[in-house]
Amino acid sequence: MTHTRPVWAEISRHKLLHNYRILQGLAGPDAQLVAVIKADAYGHGLEACARTLAGDGAQWLGVTSVEEAVRLRGFCPKARILVMSGAWQGEGDAVIDGRLTPVVWDRAHVAMLREAAARRGLGPGALAVHVEIDSGMSRQGVQMENVAALLEGFGAGSPLRVEAAMTHFHSPDQAGATGEQMRRFCAAVELMIRGGARPEFLSAGSSTDLLDQSTGEMTDLAKRHGARRMVRCGLALYGYAPQGGRDFGLRPALSWKTRVVSLREIGEGAVAGYGATFRANRPTRLALLAVGYADGLNRGLSNRGSVLVRGQRAPMAGRVSMDQTVVDVTEIPGVAVGDEVVLIGEQDGASLTADDVARLTGTIAYEVLCAIGARVPRVVVD
Ligand SMILES: *Cc1c(COP(=O)(O)O)cnc(C)c1O
Repeated sequence: MTHTRPVWAEISRHKLLHNYRILQGLAGPDAQLVAVIKADAYGHGLEACARTLAGDGAQWLGVTSVEEAVRLRGFCPKARILVMSGAWQGEGDAVIDGRLTPVVWDRAHVAMLREAAARRGLGPGALAVHVEIDSGMSRQGVQMENVAALLEGFGAGSPLRVEAAMTHFHSPDQAGATGEQMRRFCAAVELMIRGGARPEFLSAGSSTDLLDQSTGEMTDLAKRHGARRMVRCGLALYGYAPQGGRDFGLRPALSWKTRVVSLREIGEGAVAGYGATFRANRPTRLALLAVGYADGLNRGLSNRGSVLVRGQRAPMAGRVSMDQTVVDVTEIPGVAVGDEVVLIGEQDGASLTADDVARLTGTIAYEVLCAIGARVPRVVVD
């Protein structure tokens, strides 16, 4: 499709790689980094990000679903692909045909994959899986009391092999909470090893753990069991530190832009937008932008958010509409139709981040980035 509507997101491969290398440095040579590119690479575009990272030597890519993984396999023939939310009924053959590595935690996963492996004639241990332990998040993962039963599906001659023991922390920014989860994970790993599993990787931690460098305990655990630590990083790859913590010079890889498509002057007392929630208290100059909530611009920004025009902040005037937004440019001289407008990104030294938007809308940078709509073309700029 040819995109002619003036709204787009620019993706910097250069910044993505800059971030990836920072994270690799933090992980160190002993740990295996998984570049998490689920949810269309957090809204940055799966294909461009995957090709860029794999081209730079990323060995492991993490996605949510078998569906995403199959698509990814289409342009990443070599990288290992971790399917982090497991496999759903009927997806067993696709896992094997796509050479995917599923996370498993349920006996139903094991049964389904064993059947698919039998259909495809896989030999013992040919299908590597990562077993997730529920160390306290209660989202997915095998609960402690069921670890032994789950392992029965991995006995001698099974086509399934435990390549990693994995867990996910619910509050990586709170040392106390993670400590408790670590204790449970340690116990589960010991149980698994006693049960005959030989995990090559112990997989735990996300961007926060890596940026906080709170990974010492995991390193010790891995050493004790002759395994390697695996860390799964998403948000930091795209240039953001979760919870706005220390960022080590990460740079946001996405900029979201539109243009001024129309201008008008309104008199004092005139209103703008649905519900007439903006009322001019002086002669006011308004600029119309080709972006709305159908593009993922949060309606909660109505009368609260701002954009950059000519290097200055222009406040939103009235409600964000489905496809359009109006901003007040009275204070910014010379604004003209066609001017580039920044929703997220930098302009003439000024900047607006996904964190800024998230603060105004009561959410997190993750959601702001993922919300950028599919109809907004992602343009690779460098
Ligand atoms: C999304 C996700 C990650 C990455 O988290 P970030 O905070 O974006 O680094 C890691 N592990 C799992 C299981 C995830 O779902």
